[in-house]
Amino acid sequence: MLQCTAVTAVRTPHGGFGHPMCELGEEHEGEHAEFCWDDDATGGAVWFRWSALGGRFVLLPACEVTGGAYGDACTLFRNHPAAHAWNVVDPTLEAVRQELERQFPELLREPGPGRPGPGPEREPGPEWG
Ligand SMILES: [Zn+2]
Ligand SMILES: [Zn+2]
Repeated sequence: MLQCTAVTAVRTPHGGFGHPMCELGEEHEGEHAEFCWDDDATGGAVWFRWSALGGRFVLLPACEVTGGAYGDACTLFRNHPAAHAWNVVDPTLEAVRQELERQFPELLREPGPGRPGPGPEREPGPEWG
């Protein structure tokens, strides 16, 4: 499922402008949503939700459902509409990812839940063969 392409412009409390971009799956129900920041006190996160009528910040618990090719936890909020994060594809990020894979195949993660593959920050030592 492709990512929703909704974007809006808002004035920040400091007089600047922000441009929230929706992170939900396309054609989702309800308001659009962009992650803003984690809330360590509750384990949730603050999201900016908006519609044609305006926007607001809301504190929401994390979805936490795991799945996808790597067993990652969904990064969206609990009871979000449309697909979980690992099934939502941002075409721009996907194009970047494919180009990175083409040029730097050594950065590819091993598929499979619970198997932390050697990431870009871990230099393979001699014991890795
Ligand atoms: Zn949206
Ligand atoms: Zn989810």
